[in-house]
Amino acid sequence: MTHSPLPPAAAARGESHEQEQFLAILSREEALARFEAALFPRRGTTQLRPLASALGAALAEDIVAPIDVPPFDRANVDGFAVRSADLASAGESLPATLSLNDETIACGTQPLLPVRPGTATPIATGGPVPRGADAIVMVEHTQPSDEADGIEIRRAANPGQFVSYAGSDIARGEMLLRAGTLIGSREIGMLAACGIAAVPVARRPRVAILSTGDELVPPGETLRPAAIYDVNGAIVAAAVAENGGEPDFLGAFPDEEVALETAMRDALASHDMLILSGGTSKGAGDVSHRIVPRLGSPGILAHGVALKPGKPLCLAVCDGKPVVILPGFPTSAMFTFHDMIAPVLRRMAGLPPRAEHSVEATVPVRIGSELGRTEFVMASLVEGADGLVAYPTGKGSGAITSFAQADGFLRIEALADHLPAGSRAKVTLFTPELRVPDLVLIGSHCVGLDRVVAPLAAKGLLVRTLAVGSLGGLAAARRGECDLAPIHLFDEKTGTYNEPFLAPGLELVRGWRRMQGIVHRPGDRRFEDRSAEEAVAAALADPDCLMVNRNQGAGTRILIDRLLGAARPDGYFNQPKSHNAVAAAVAQRRADWGIAIAPVAEAAGLAFIPLIEEHYDFALVTARRERPGVIAFLEALASPESAAALREAGFAKA
Ligand code: AMP
Ligand code: MG
Repeated sequence: MTHSPLPPAAAARGESHEQEQFLAILSREEALARFEAALFPRRGTTQLRPLASALGAALAEDIVAPIDVPPFDRANVDGFAVRSADLASAGESLPATLSLNDETIACGTQPLLPVRPGTATPIATGGPVPRGADAIVMVEHTQPSDEADGIEIRRAANPGQFVSYAGSDIARGEMLLRAGTLIGSREIGMLAACGIAAVPVARRPRVAILSTGDELVPPGETLRPAAIYDVNGAIVAAAVAENGGEPDFLGAFPDEEVALETAMRDALASHDMLILSGGTSKGAGDVSHRIVPRLGSPGILAHGVALKPGKPLCLAVCDGKPVVILPGFPTSAMFTFHDMIAPVLRRMAGLPPRAEHSVEATVPVRIGSELGRTEFVMASLVEGADGLVAYPTGKGSGAITSFAQADGFLRIEALADHLPAGSRAKVTLFTPELRVPDLVLIGSHCVGLDRVVAPLAAKGLLVRTLAVGSLGGLAAARRGECDLAPIHLFDEKTGTYNEPFLAPGLELVRGWRRMQGIVHRPGDRRFEDRSAEEAVAAALADPDCLMVNRNQGAGTRILIDRLLGAARPDGYFNQPKSHNAVAAAVAQRRADWGIAIAPVAEAAGLAFIPLIEEHYDFALVTARRERPGVIAFLEALASPESAAALREAGFAKA
């Protein structure tokens, strides 16, 4: 045994407990290199694909034009086919007179009569030029002549005028499209013009997709306690299709080694590639990575890659077929797929590397990063005073909603431990077109806000709301990165909300009020029919009573600390960041009481003891008051419809 690190395959076989812990974490470059080296070069299978379904595929072979396009000399205008020599001396004062031949050449009509000297044949755009003719005269440049069946022409015509010669567009034998060309609508047009009905493309790799985890429930079914919906199945199937594969989603499987192994073997036998998600983190119930080495050689090539998110990624090749286990967290699964799997899948599908679209933007806040791991951070783009600003939107690798607000992601290289505030960064866009929002609200989030901005979205305005907390919103407003900052900040000194926190250049727009209070499960005798003060006293007196707190910096936290004084009851250090999390904890009996706003308590089926009304207002950046998005927002806020919608959601209009 040498002192070099164990090969990852050995680590993954789990020969000892120590070897189980990602002993050999590879850089992303090294992991990808090993994966590609084990897969390429390989012989792909080519198939003829009908033109109608060839969109998005890449040509597997060069295509040579089998015919001339156009296939014959063709008239470009409506008019008359003539001999240019007949018009050599024609002019304003000396019209040439030509007699008309006894046929009219429409599109698709084969001419029968030649154009002899002194004659002309009526011809439509697209008609084949008849024998003898060498030019077309536009109908607008002719007049009927005095004698019947003749025309007068008062200008000369160049030979070849308004004629498209056979093969002038595409010449028979010419290289039409090269192998590797991505087939879009233009290419389909060129192929159709040559009469080609099917093209050779690489056969789409058939990709079997399995989700793993005892906790997974397919969307559409009822969620049991402690279960979550399977997100990765849908994500991976869509991402496979986007990158040239043919996805075959086989379902979510429990972490049961024997059944899972059977499913994996069957899937691998009938597909070109196998992608699993979950069960790779070497936790107690994680079994999928144990099965992979038994499926074929060389087996696992990398298990543990210096990516964030995505460290538990497992890459393997089993008897020539790629087998991948993506990390369980959906955003981790998505990033690792796009960074490490998509390039390989595209190559198998004969597709060129994905075209990346990116923009430069300023990062407004410091973004910490782990040294030694390539880190991906989702970013939401807004228009600042000096160009685009990229707000990080990630909430940790478990969050899926960060995608909704994100326009793309930035990459922090493994050797950096942070990105300083104010630095410029490249943001890789999720979609080729970036649409800058018409209205940007950065600050504290409230479900009432969704009700007020809903009509703006219906009018076609793109509204972006970024939840960074009240103080973060005020900072963004001062830097001119948003139009309005929704805030709810209580000033101890004046006993008022929000107004005292405004900086110069900002003005207050009144929003609404939300009643905050103690939430508890209905029927809990410790709280039922008591005032807020009595309820807190009862809770503090009962050593079995468990509270749920809020995060430092939240307006609600100030309230809680005032209620508790010096007391630190059990549960104090459970500090989630939202009203919804507080309500869920109490409803699911992980805590007995907490403080949240009334509409959230009601939605969770909890009882509510009112405490104090909180003011949720907006700091408007005065310089942005006249922007159309802001005007529309202020109108919506003042409308009777939004007042009604807010009331319905449990808020009182200020
Ligand atoms: P695992 O890698 O199996 O330990 O999973 C890590 C985390 O991702 C756990 O919180 C899982 O519940 C979650 N997870 C795993 N698979 C999925 C999936 N298909 N959809 C949504 N979440 C998942
Ligand atoms: Mg799992």
